[in-house]
Amino acid sequence: MLGNSIRLFRVAGIDVGVHVSWLVIFALVTWSLAVGVFPSIAGLKGLPEWEYWVLGAITALLLFASVIVHELAHSLVAKSRGLGVRSITLFIFGGVSNLAGEAKKPSTEFIIAIVGPLTSFAIAAVAYVADAALPASAAVPDAVLSYLVYINLALGAFNLIPGFPLDGGRVFRALAWTWTGSLRRGTEIAAFVGHLVAWGLLLLGFYLILVRGDLFQGIWLGAIGWFLQNAASSSLQQVLIEQRLRGARVADVVEPDTTVVAPDLPLVTLIEDSFMRGNRRAVPVVSDGRLVGMVTVGDVKEVPRDRWPTMTVGEVMGGRDGVVSVGPRDSLQRALEALAKGDFEQVPVVEDGKLVGVVTRADIVRQIQLREALDLEGVLPRPAASPAR
Ligand SMILES: [Zn+2]
Repeated sequence: MLGNSIRLFRVAGIDVGVHVSWLVIFALVTWSLAVGVFPSIAGLKGLPEWEYWVLGAITALLLFASVIVHELAHSLVAKSRGLGVRSITLFIFGGVSNLAGEAKKPSTEFIIAIVGPLTSFAIAAVAYVADAALPASAAVPDAVLSYLVYINLALGAFNLIPGFPLDGGRVFRALAWTWTGSLRRGTEIAAFVGHLVAWGLLLLGFYLILVRGDLFQGIWLGAIGWFLQNAASSSLQQVLIEQRLRGARVADVVEPDTTVVAPDLPLVTLIEDSFMRGNRRAVPVVSDGRLVGMVTVGDVKEVPRDRWPTMTVGEVMGGRDGVVSVGPRDSLQRALEALAKGDFEQVPVVEDGKLVGVVTRADIVRQIQLREALDLEGVLPRPAASPAR
């Protein structure tokens, strides 16, 4: 989940939360509906003021639900294609589905991206049909449903803008990836188009503010442009990292370390012997020769200091519902995805049921920097006439 987020609920194994910025948008939407939109609708004139506010808040909540359904569509399709989904966070411009890893094929990326806008259009269609079925006298539900039709059409259309990483940008990247046969080229092209779109929106924002004097629309467009500009850069960065890590294996970075602790060890002993003396931040927990969890500095920090002598490793360790591990022959990219999926700082490396060591985020970052310094991509070139070894 993004920083500054509040977790709301869990659906189909996916955490749904809101970023604090969304609360501001929620208040703004409620306010603009209650003060601007609803009182000016002919059939709603003359209601008590509080009713406009209740109606505004209900409609804002329905907008919120529409965005969740849009994001759930992305997440569920991603899951059905074997990609991990960590969470959905609603923030200022809509939602973000936090996927662990990227699609391996352009067709997968295409379908995960396109299903979001299609879902928004489908919600608009359902609201439109429901609205048409209402009797003419039902002014209040008519106002709410009309707004839902409008806002979902807008959501679908905005997300189809071909600026990476918006849905439309991802669709465009999937196409460019198919044309060029290279994820890297496809991403560079899509990010370039994303920058063009972002600059276009920024310029349009300035034009509206400076020439047309339309401050509200101008700031809104400018903010979207600025957001897209940043998002295009960071998404490109992410793909470049994946490319750098191609060919790198877990075995390349893991330091052999078979320090383990038992689940019944008191925390104070763990801190003294394994953390302090071993200069480690995490230790695998093994019981009956089987890896049962990982205990980290973060887990221990949660426990009040006076309970360190009495509480045991087994009571605080992570991974009690199944430990995520990687093998030495797995790609570093896979280790990175495992770290991202669980929001871990390190993941244990296991071969044939035996613990080999632990690979940390810092290990992977060092490997990326090393490969960057050498400008190395893929596997190391071998001498042409090297004798068989
Ligand atoms: Zn989307």
